[in-house]
Amino acid sequence: MTGSIRHDGMGNRPRRMLRRLRDVMAQAATYQERLELIVRIVAADMSAEVCSIYVRRSDRTLELWATEGLNPEAVRRTRLRVGEGLVGDIAASTRPLALSDAQAHPKFAYRPETGEEIFQSLMGVPILRSERLLGVIVVQNRTRRHYADEEIETLETFAMALASLLPGDVAEEQGAETGPMRIAGSCLVPGLALGRAFLHRRLLLEVPVVAEDPAAERRRLETALADMHGRLDSLVGQAQLAGHGATSDVLETYRMFARDRGWLHRMREAVDDGLTAEAAVQRVLNDTRMRMGSISDAYLRERLVDFEALADELMAALARERGVPATPPELPDDAVLVARTLGPADLLAYDRKRLRAVVLEEGTATAHVSIVARALQIPVVGRAESVMTDVEPGDTVIVDGDNGQVFLRPREQVREQFLRSLEARRVQRARFAAGRDTPCVTRDGVAVALQLNAGLLVDLAELSATGAEGVGLYRTEIAFMTRRDAPDLAAQTELYRRILEAAGDYPVTFRALDAGGDKRLTALAPGGEENPALGWRSLRILLDRPGVLRRQVRALLEAAAGRTLRLMVPMVCTADEFEQARRMIERECDRASERGRPVACRLELGVMIETPSLLWQLDELLPRVDFAAVGSNDLLQFSFAADRGNPNVSHRYDPLDAPFLRMLRHVVRCCETNRVPLSLCGEMASRPLEALALVGLGYRTLSMSPDAVGPVKEALLACSTAELAGLLERELATGTGRFRTVLDAFVRDHRVPV
Ligand code: PEP
Ligand code: MG
Repeated sequence: MTGSIRHDGMGNRPRRMLRRLRDVMAQAATYQERLELIVRIVAADMSAEVCSIYVRRSDRTLELWATEGLNPEAVRRTRLRVGEGLVGDIAASTRPLALSDAQAHPKFAYRPETGEEIFQSLMGVPILRSERLLGVIVVQNRTRRHYADEEIETLETFAMALASLLPGDVAEEQGAETGPMRIAGSCLVPGLALGRAFLHRRLLLEVPVVAEDPAAERRRLETALADMHGRLDSLVGQAQLAGHGATSDVLETYRMFARDRGWLHRMREAVDDGLTAEAAVQRVLNDTRMRMGSISDAYLRERLVDFEALADELMAALARERGVPATPPELPDDAVLVARTLGPADLLAYDRKRLRAVVLEEGTATAHVSIVARALQIPVVGRAESVMTDVEPGDTVIVDGDNGQVFLRPREQVREQFLRSLEARRVQRARFAAGRDTPCVTRDGVAVALQLNAGLLVDLAELSATGAEGVGLYRTEIAFMTRRDAPDLAAQTELYRRILEAAGDYPVTFRALDAGGDKRLTALAPGGEENPALGWRSLRILLDRPGVLRRQVRALLEAAAGRTLRLMVPMVCTADEFEQARRMIERECDRASERGRPVACRLELGVMIETPSLLWQLDELLPRVDFAAVGSNDLLQFSFAADRGNPNVSHRYDPLDAPFLRMLRHVVRCCETNRVPLSLCGEMASRPLEALALVGLGYRTLSMSPDAVGPVKEALLACSTAELAGLLERELATGTGRFRTVLDAFVRDHRVPV
């Protein structure tokens, strides 16, 4: 992948500039004089008419501190807000920008006092230290000029040098930002937390950018690489030993990235070009960030996070080599870890017991760090723009992972309100935990089985914590998602065996690999389809690649030796497809018995009902299945042609509206006629109001996320199924078709806790 990232080396000019920069740094001048020298050198060497340095102040403005080419009167007078104009944009995004026609850019705004309106082209890069914005350096040209990638890299190298030249953190020196602030981000892992900010800073040491002795730097880099590889090997070993299956999978992938040849080659090349090892690591990272940052493909963007984390590992190794302690510093005991990006190994290196939450400037829900954080039950808010710049170490931070928002330095009232919410949640949790062993039986004596949706080994611990009656959906693809190559037979067998062991006497319903769509497994579904949700995915892949299904079935059969194996087939669109899958699975069962190895004593084979086409083949299909499970997430998406992952449309259609309820009722009736046990395992089952509707429709087994078990049970205990069923029948026969309104009124009138 990184082989596609081109790098041309630095060439002579940047090397010459670096030498001059070293001379400037060596001169005993004030930093203001040094800045003035630097803007002159950069402007001359880059053939630019202007070079300016803007420095960030504590009030989130950028102040012009040195310029070659703009009106000198504007120095220390001209200010821009972060986000304002092109310079402000570079500061807000912390990414480089190069425009041959800057004036045509929608963000272009000029300050008359600088006289910059005559300049057509602009290139600028942020000056960052430990991920925090210190300022921006820009060059401008009168004529339209196309800045080459190599020039951006050179300017970035200067920015790195400047970061060590500026007087400490100017913003910090001027007094920290003290006002309260709310940052809207997105929910990566739900949960609430209050704590003190701890900034995960890249280990940018105060070391020179330009190497005195390139051969010695090369040796330092090689030693650091060996150190990093050794550390990762031992982390993977520890995770495997500790039995953290999913975590060791993630680390394994991560270790593979650490051996990426393109990445290693470019760092060696940068050292050979004359940079210190630290500067080379940083320069290649900047370069990778710049080239990959604009890629919209979520998978590739997540790999960028891996490279950022690996650069951290290397910096830490280089620091160790310089004798600087590089282990993560002690966290305060209520730490909210704030970072631009974070790798899984970074997260695991911190003391879990002290970590309340994580806030990231970037990140997505499927990023490796989110998978690990979810497994460790640490709330994470991502896409919290500029949080690294706005937060100060030790600030009080409220992390509202449920709603994807962060409050920095909250006012006392907000803090108190939040503490009340936390306390209410704690009391509620304690109540749910106390009710763990209470059977879920409605007021009119109907038992409803509440089961768990799981996808990681650690989720199994939730069985005893919640009192759920087994795993209704085990998403086997999650283990595949954390690695580049599909796990082999032995790895799968071991994983499934441990899942069953952890479940004890509770049943576990495994789902055959449901790859594709929003769950891209590079090993199987390479992507690139225009319409992945409707493309080559799930059962379609399994039927076309029988080896994958056979291997999984064999692993499951062996893992379930001596017990019943429950397996269900996802994304079935026709009865015939199910039949083909059944034949393949049964053939594997026959082979397994022929091999004479201990295998499951019984197989129960189920179907997932999640495509509308299947609704009209149920009488043909159901006599051939042992059980059925509605996947309401996909059924809803396909019924309403609304992408479940697209926030602009995914909430447009209410599953409690008549059309969807009628579909769900149709499934219940068909299963009753054919005497097929039925459950529902989409997100719908996790919401108390929806769960009431499902029970009213006749569903008696619901599978949900662990934290939904308590609230759903509490709501069901307060209701009578007959009443709910009557309400639904009336509504579907004569009502407005909007059952949510009716149900809202019902729970209010009957004081049902939802
Ligand atoms: C569903 O579609 O409702 C379901 C349970 O499967 P997934 O969410 O994994 O697609
Ligand atoms: Mg599905």
